[in-house]
Amino acid sequence: MISFDNVTKRYPNGYDALSQVSFSLDKGEMAFLTGHSGAGKSTLLKLLMLMERPSNGRVLVGDQDLASLANSQIPYHRRRVGVVFQNHQLLFDRSVFDNIVLPLRICGFDPADAARRARAALDKVGLLSKEKLNPVVLSGGEQQRVGIARAIVHKPQFLLADEPTGNLDPKLSEEVMRLFQQFNQVGTTVLIASHDLGLIARMPHRVITLNQGRLVSDGK
Ligand code: ADP
Ligand code: ADP
Repeated sequence: MISFDNVTKRYPNGYDALSQVSFSLDKGEMAFLTGHSGAGKSTLLKLLMLMERPSNGRVLVGDQDLASLANSQIPYHRRRVGVVFQNHQLLFDRSVFDNIVLPLRICGFDPADAARRARAALDKVGLLSKEKLNPVVLSGGEQQRVGIARAIVHKPQFLLADEPTGNLDPKLSEEVMRLFQQFNQVGTTVLIASHDLGLIARMPHRVITLNQGRLVSDGK
């Protein structure tokens, strides 16, 4: 599960991007995080990824208090928590396959095992036939699916996404959301930050709303 207990994040300039935020997400749940630009969505995800630390309060991921993790343990934490970004952050100087296999090679998988897992991840997002292409030639929706394959290649228990459909048209956005639902159905806990209220309204999931750093509503 994921749990925020009275969490405040004050940036060094004195601005509180999150103020006394509390909620929890059960293991296997899928939820949206929404709110206007500047509401604190990215900050909340950054706390979960240990890209930032809270100024106050407690963040738990899978029963682990993140405060107990030293910076040296962050790489291991990031294997449990897959992340999808709006702008994909793909490497455009290498193939789709290499984009997926690289994170596995970096953490020491043997080449054959890494290749097998990378292909399995590409298969799950329907892009196995494009593994040799450079991501630059793919459509926006396909690039986002490569980003999702890379986020799930470690089989994370948690999948976070920051505006994953921000650059996609409505049809592609729904495809990407269906993929997240598929991973959720096999047990992955999913939290998606999005300000696409139309898309969110068409899905049956919990919606957590932030406004100026405060949690202002939480429900279906
Ligand atoms: P959202 O993702 O909902 O748009 P963010 O979490 O990115 O919101 O930002 C919340 C607020 O915190 C914004 O007002 C933003 O300007 C501010 N903020 C974000 N990062 C920093 C930072 N590193 N230093 C100071 N202020 C920041
Ligand atoms: P294997 O267990 O033989 O490596 P799987 O078919 O179980 O193969 O998984 C292949 C790939 O699918 C994994 O590397 C991972 O990318 C993805 N995957 C499998 N299960 C999950 C899951 N529960 N959540 C997210 N991704 C998953």
